[in-house]
Amino acid sequence: MDQRVKPEALCHSQSLFAVMDALGSSPSGFSGEQAERQRQQFGSNVLPMAPPPSWWQRLLSQFQNVLIYVLLVSAVISALMGHFVDAGVIIAVVLANAIVGLVQEGKAETALRAIMSMTRTHSMVIRDGRLVSMDSAELVPGDVVWLQAGDRVPADVRLYDVKDLQCDESALTGEAQPVSKFNGVLEPDTLLAERSNMAYMGTMVTFGVAHGVVVATGLHTEIGKISHMVGQVQLPETPLQKQLARFARQLTTAILLVCVFTIVLGMLLHDYSLKEMFQAAIGIAVSAIPEGLPAIVTIALAIGVQRMAARNALVRRLPAVEVLGSVDVICSDKTGTLTANAMTAREVFTDQKAYRVSGEGYCPKGEISLLDSTDSVTSGNDPVLSCASEIAFLCNDARTSQEEGNWLLVGDPTEGALLTMAKKAGIEEQATSKRWPRADELPFASERRYMATLHTSTQGARLMVKGAPERLLQFASAALSERGEVDVDHQRWQVEIERFAQQGMRVMALAYRDFSEKPLGLDYADAEQNLVLVALVGISDPPRPEAISSIQDCHAAGIRVKMITGDNPITAAAIGREMGLNTSKVMTGAELDELNPEELGEIAEQVDVFARTSPANKLQLVSAIQRWRHVVAMTGDGVNDAPALRKADIGVAMGEKGTDAAKEAADFVLTNDNFSTIASAVAEGRAVYDNIIKSIIFILPTSLAESLVIFSAIMMGLVMPVTPAQVLWINMITTVTLALVLGFEQPEADIMARPPRPYGQSMISKELVFRMVLVGGLGASVVFGLFDYYLDSGASLELARTVAVNTLVMIEVLYLFNCRFLHQGIFGRHFLKGIQPTLWALFAIVLIQGVFSYLPISQRLFGLASMQWIDWVIVLVCSSPILFLVELEKWIQRGLRPAKAALSPATQA
Ligand code: ADP
Ligand code: MG
Repeated sequence: MDQRVKPEALCHSQSLFAVMDALGSSPSGFSGEQAERQRQQFGSNVLPMAPPPSWWQRLLSQFQNVLIYVLLVSAVISALMGHFVDAGVIIAVVLANAIVGLVQEGKAETALRAIMSMTRTHSMVIRDGRLVSMDSAELVPGDVVWLQAGDRVPADVRLYDVKDLQCDESALTGEAQPVSKFNGVLEPDTLLAERSNMAYMGTMVTFGVAHGVVVATGLHTEIGKISHMVGQVQLPETPLQKQLARFARQLTTAILLVCVFTIVLGMLLHDYSLKEMFQAAIGIAVSAIPEGLPAIVTIALAIGVQRMAARNALVRRLPAVEVLGSVDVICSDKTGTLTANAMTAREVFTDQKAYRVSGEGYCPKGEISLLDSTDSVTSGNDPVLSCASEIAFLCNDARTSQEEGNWLLVGDPTEGALLTMAKKAGIEEQATSKRWPRADELPFASERRYMATLHTSTQGARLMVKGAPERLLQFASAALSERGEVDVDHQRWQVEIERFAQQGMRVMALAYRDFSEKPLGLDYADAEQNLVLVALVGISDPPRPEAISSIQDCHAAGIRVKMITGDNPITAAAIGREMGLNTSKVMTGAELDELNPEELGEIAEQVDVFARTSPANKLQLVSAIQRWRHVVAMTGDGVNDAPALRKADIGVAMGEKGTDAAKEAADFVLTNDNFSTIASAVAEGRAVYDNIIKSIIFILPTSLAESLVIFSAIMMGLVMPVTPAQVLWINMITTVTLALVLGFEQPEADIMARPPRPYGQSMISKELVFRMVLVGGLGASVVFGLFDYYLDSGASLELARTVAVNTLVMIEVLYLFNCRFLHQGIFGRHFLKGIQPTLWALFAIVLIQGVFSYLPISQRLFGLASMQWIDWVIVLVCSSPILFLVELEKWIQRGLRPAKAALSPATQA
């Protein structure tokens, strides 16, 4: 070990040079090899995760359920009364249920956790002298990182080149106000919260930019020392799960009441013994309780999360999966989400000339020529173009490079397009950077819509500015022409801005301001006056074709799509038209600021395209739209978008260009930044909800049929067609096996052709109640009928009961097919789609029922007798009317349902 001071301890009180020296680093960063050596010594930059709960903790949690308590009490009572078979079966079944639940939920939870922790953070790091983006886990002490607004600070760093940097350190110090950071050396005893030349892991950059050298990683960071471990991701309950839990409690109370009622009436009316009545009551309780439901809901959610991940939507908050199905307004960014974010400069306009730019993407091959000629122009023979390309090149943080033949971009696509244009103009990169080294900068902020850099040379200082044209036009006092600086012809520039924008192009203006001396303490005010306007650049960013069709899908699904962009209103309208949005009216952020809350509400409902908006406008709009009782999904990427993402019912962050701040505020992260991912996530969300409803609509009516059989036998003083032990078997083994299948169902064909489900709708619908009466009543009658028929025709009680049990199972199997489609009929080609899980379950049931019905020991335990093949035919024939009756009921319901999807807002307008 070396003898030097441990760098992380005192680095705030040492010069930057000393800190870097102690770490063996320099402003040009480590090479890959050096970094690897550091990594072997210091390990990865991660905080260890707390271990997940152990298997026995999870097993115990399976028993923490009112329904299970009722069952266990039943087992004890059965045992006390000497019904050891019943007690044994209940215990065995409770255990089996716990183990199935454990295994299935365990798998589901592992999958959920894996996906939730997939959103890893990346950092901008200087390696081998180049700025690259890499997984923050790979950082080592001595690495040089570049921080900007919206970043989560990836390690403890000593800052330098600080420019207006502010950090939210509440995660570390509890201080809610952002603190400003500066260059410099501090006293050794400065408190952690006051070390303004340091930034600490886990805190958030809220403004500005800076460089920093990593001084501590992983467990050696300040946050690592405090917390040691990252807490496990808590899986919160979803609204539906909460509703189910409440329902389960109510159901249990109701069942217990029915049991007491049964015991009392049975003894009064038919003088059964208390012992007999207890046994029957236990049968009713056991059959009516939907034990498997919680596990099935978790599994359906997990499958949904996995399917969404496969389609590039990572779920960060589980309840959002369900809410997605109710979304009826999606507010989307334009740039990169609706458009491809493949920016290419197409046209340039200067005071006197208009140019055309050829070539595609970030490849610097291409020519700049005058609009009315074909001869190419370069910065060598056109001084105004030369000045424009200098600004485009220098006031720029993007880098393009060629890898395996492809030109790739690191940084902002708008800047990439400008950089590429400068290269096409033939800029001499090395010489230009040398002539005008960067001395200072004013970082881009979406509220200001421009960025500026200060460059000094032997002759003086020049501020180079690029940004939204109407802003720079407002600050300009002159324009550059071949004759030098001339007056700005506002009208002409305005005409050109609109001409570019009408073609759907993003328009950027380039300008500069000369200072005779380098200004001390550069301020935004310096960039907002006396600018010399040099050029306009029209940058094309074509709509994503798949986004256009997704917008159509959304409209068909009763979902309105609104575009909220920081871009120019004319550009926004042009792109909106191409995308099929309602562009009859476009509002700008400035216009929104003028409105009173009532007017804002009206506008939020009517208008679908918003331009030149600020993050504050986004927040206003979400609230206004929510006041109309809409369920809103909102996209965002910047640090200032976080409040709007939190406010929206579904916050959606961009995985590629989004800041850490936006991702952490969001419910979903789109790994491909693509609008159509949101649309497909909505479809999956609707499917998950459907599948949960399908399991409920399957389990409750069949449970009712079982308990009705026992209940009515007692009320009528008849021999019970099925014993409590038999009912237990059906309820816990076959019902759960079959219902599980429904969690795997594919989305139905009309999933995006129906209106969104009203949010917070009760799970107990009229349809469900009707279905319970239909299936419960019919099922019980069929079982009774067959049981009586067998007894009348002289069969043994055992055989009649075996037939009754298997009739209940047969009804479940047939009814499962009904439940695979909520509204759609089952007859058609879609019947085969995604049928594999059902077939597997069917196969399992045949095996299980075979063993149950024929194995001698099982026959003895459950009191069964062997059925002949003709008995099976009778069972099948007598059960099948239920299948057709339910289909008839669905058909009638379909006729009663309101007309398909709502009109699309585009056609309404
Ligand atoms: P969008 O909603 O299209 O993503 P942004 O908020 O990113 O809008 O940008 C708003 C405006 O700010 C753009 O129309 C452009 O005029 C300007 N702008 C965007 N990026 C930059 C940049 N890197 N430098 C200077 N100005 C920019
Ligand atoms: Mg943007």
